[in-house]
Amino acid sequence: MTRLLLIGPPGAGKGTQAARLAEAYVIPAISTGDIFRSNVRNHTELGAKAKAYMDAGDNVPDSLTNALIRDRLAEADCDSGFLLDGYPRTTDQVRELDEFLAGHGASLDVVVELVADPDVVVERLRKRAREHGRSDDDETVVRHRLEVYRDQTAPLVGIYDSRGVLAKIDGLGEIDDVTTRITAALADRGIVLPDAASR
Ligand code: ADP
Repeated sequence: MTRLLLIGPPGAGKGTQAARLAEAYVIPAISTGDIFRSNVRNHTELGAKAKAYMDAGDNVPDSLTNALIRDRLAEADCDSGFLLDGYPRTTDQVRELDEFLAGHGASLDVVVELVADPDVVVERLRKRAREHGRSDDDETVVRHRLEVYRDQTAPLVGIYDSRGVLAKIDGLGEIDDVTTRITAALADRGIVLPDAASR
């Protein structure tokens, strides 16, 4: 049972690392951003409610996000653990997640903070905007997302640090190197890759 959280500013590479870690540790990667985007694409009621916030680079209201994640974590594939990417990102969401996990006698094992310089993330997102055209990667929206991260999400790092579950990882450099840094930090905390465990 491995319960992980990836936290870091937009553009730090959370999505990329989440996909790799999910495969390596055989747990589902759960990205609230991806879930919201797929709801927008499929024109669901949730998507209609979330879209304006996302396009503006604001957090979707906690009530919507919390309800969504409760449903998602209750699905059977989370029985073996999960990797959260982009949730929680407010103190209210931390409270909600704590409550949900406590109800299952559980808590997060490790919170991985991907640290990246703001200038670097702006440049990465500029590139992503050119290549993929994500509507919230427009330059002014990106700046706003970084402010929202600084104001609402960065304080969560201190909360998890005080609980002794934080691993700070340098998010710069080659994608493979960042993955290696994360798996090493997890191994230090007793979370080993499944194929290593069975050897
Ligand atoms: P990034 O971390 O690069 O900003 P995400 O895909 O995590 O990208 O999120 C994109 C958008 O989805 C956010 O700007 C926000 O509007 C919405 N969103 C994602 N996760 C949450 C969350 N936990 N709470 C509120 N809004 C969220």
